[in-house]
Amino acid sequence: MIRKTDRIYVAGHRGMVGSACVRALNAIGCENIVARTHKSLDLLDPRAVREFYAEEKPDIAIIAAAKVGGIGANSAGNAEFLYQNEMIAMNTVMGAYEAGVKRLLFLGSTCIYPRMAPQPIPESALLTSPLEKTNEGYALAKISGLKLCEFLRRDKGVCYHSLMPTNLYGTGDNYDIVGGHVLPTMIRKFETARVNGDAAVPLWGTGTPLREFLHVDDLAAACLFVLSLDNPPDLVNVGSGSEITIRELAEKVKAATGCPAEIAWDATKPDGTPRKLCDTSLIRSLGWSPKISLDEGLARTVAEYRESVANGTVRT
Ligand code: GDP
Repeated sequence: MIRKTDRIYVAGHRGMVGSACVRALNAIGCENIVARTHKSLDLLDPRAVREFYAEEKPDIAIIAAAKVGGIGANSAGNAEFLYQNEMIAMNTVMGAYEAGVKRLLFLGSTCIYPRMAPQPIPESALLTSPLEKTNEGYALAKISGLKLCEFLRRDKGVCYHSLMPTNLYGTGDNYDIVGGHVLPTMIRKFETARVNGDAAVPLWGTGTPLREFLHVDDLAAACLFVLSLDNPPDLVNVGSGSEITIRELAEKVKAATGCPAEIAWDATKPDGTPRKLCDTSLIRSLGWSPKISLDEGLARTVAEYRESVANGTVRT
């Protein structure tokens, strides 16, 4: 149960997921948020993280800090994705344990599951066959983090558990064309083409892979939901439960932005894993379901993107 008086550390509070968690916590009256900017606390430094926890002694920690990126950034930087995310996971989880933090939620992504996992992917598919190569570094680090939570819970009796969201989008996303995730990148590409009057929008791969998208505000609601459970499962998937092809997504973004340009598929760019739909029956059976449809979330996100372009605050 989260109490309004709890001191809650949100690691990564400026990122898309962390900032959504802070908004959701504030909305239920939790104002006692502990946060550190990247500049003031280097999560790669175990000693600094240990000192931070000793000083702040939060009641709850939400680990939403990570080095994230789309298929371009991941496939070009597996070493960095492994190293940084491994260090962040080990330092934030172990540091919390050493400081006596009783409750911790660790966030990852469904790319922790094998490339050829059964679809929709149940939590039980973890570590059953090889990972997708394009994001293997990120996945290995997140698997270590969730396992550390599981081991500490089993061996030391702390309630540390994990939530694995599907592909996320929404408020506070990163719009980097090369390193970003597919949905925000498409918004930026179609908007730029519309404004410039370009004839074509270049997109990656064949358009055939299937992906699932969840609005980050739904994820934040799911975080609060699992944190409210007395005995949450170690590992829980969270997703919208419906999937679309990258080609269908492109058509939706084209319509949502009102861009008349043609789509030019560049098959020299990677497709990544062919399908990544997570099995959300566990979280649904516990009583949670998403509220924001892709069409509604997309319309909101395009409006927010336009606003941030107008204000000069687009994150890249
Ligand atoms: P993934 O879901 O972990 O593979 O990562 P992404 O969010 O980057 O989505 C990648 C999927 O979208 C792949 O099938 C890409 O081929 C496809 N895609 C199409 N156009 C783009 C683009 O402009 N940027 C990105 N990141 N992916 C694109």
